[in-house]
Amino acid sequence: MQPSTLVYRTENYSFDEVLAQSVAHRRLSRLATARLLFRGHWDVIELNEPTMVKVWPSLVIYIASARLGAFIRRSRTEIVCYAIDNADVSACLLSRKHVPRFISKWVMRRLIRRYDRVAFGTQGARQAYAEYDTHLDRHVDTAVIEQLPSVCDCGNVDDYRRPSVLFVSSLERRKGISELMAAWDDLRYEGAYLTIIGKGPLEPEVSAWAASRADVSLVIDPPRAAVHEALRSHKVVSLLSQPQDCWREQVGLPIVEGLSHGCLVVASEETGVASWLSEHGHFVVRRGASKAEIADKLRSALDSDRSPKSITDQLPHRHMRVAADDWLRG
Ligand SMILES: [Zn+2]
Repeated sequence: MQPSTLVYRTENYSFDEVLAQSVAHRRLSRLATARLLFRGHWDVIELNEPTMVKVWPSLVIYIASARLGAFIRRSRTEIVCYAIDNADVSACLLSRKHVPRFISKWVMRRLIRRYDRVAFGTQGARQAYAEYDTHLDRHVDTAVIEQLPSVCDCGNVDDYRRPSVLFVSSLERRKGISELMAAWDDLRYEGAYLTIIGKGPLEPEVSAWAASRADVSLVIDPPRAAVHEALRSHKVVSLLSQPQDCWREQVGLPIVEGLSHGCLVVASEETGVASWLSEHGHFVVRRGASKAEIADKLRSALDSDRSPKSITDQLPHRHMRVAADDWLRG
């Protein structure tokens, strides 16, 4: 993406130290960040999207500091964000903290309208934000730049693939592994096989089930190269994510990686790219679908005569997060 300074407060388990070294980065407290935004001459400031309730106080402080600094200097600073969250924040606050919906929606509306530009990474995120603010477009410059990958260049993509399904994600309930196992029991597709790659809390259950079936293999946490090899050789990638507490699948890395290797996708409608998938010949399972309905979708995908190339031909030439970055910088 375009050169920038990365400012962050804490490091979580997915913080990539090596990647951070490749850009200018600073770890600052909330107060030091506010000071930096107030004093610096910033053309564009990209902040978190406002759906994370715990960052609300920070956002208020940062936006106020940036706006005040720009006002005093009589300069122009654009405040932007990249939004992919499609969960219902007000439903979550109601169930967890008993905050009435009209209050959380009011806060969300007030916050989101303080941005100059918002790039939505999925159609699902755009729809979720419309729930807080039906007139968002009147106040904020918005665009939907669907978060699609470009083709992975890890190796040759075979044109013919045996009828096979790949699950590659963590073995936990919210990633829909239980739904996939139930549907696979229901499917009975002659000659088809299922490969499960991952690790997680449901490992004992998945392992026992896989051992009981000749057409299922389980690979625990293999190296990345082996994952890419599996993506190149399987016909279908399935991710049946289920909503859990206040979590909802935003995009789903297995979906993105499957597409970039020419796989057909069978996904639940929780992913923000569900409408793109439906419109481009993939298979979307509705919320609450029975195992027979899911098995039907898997069967249709396995029956499909689409070539991997026809799938990768629908992808952009560069990752769309980069395209969104360009758009956000104006
Ligand atoms: Zn690859």
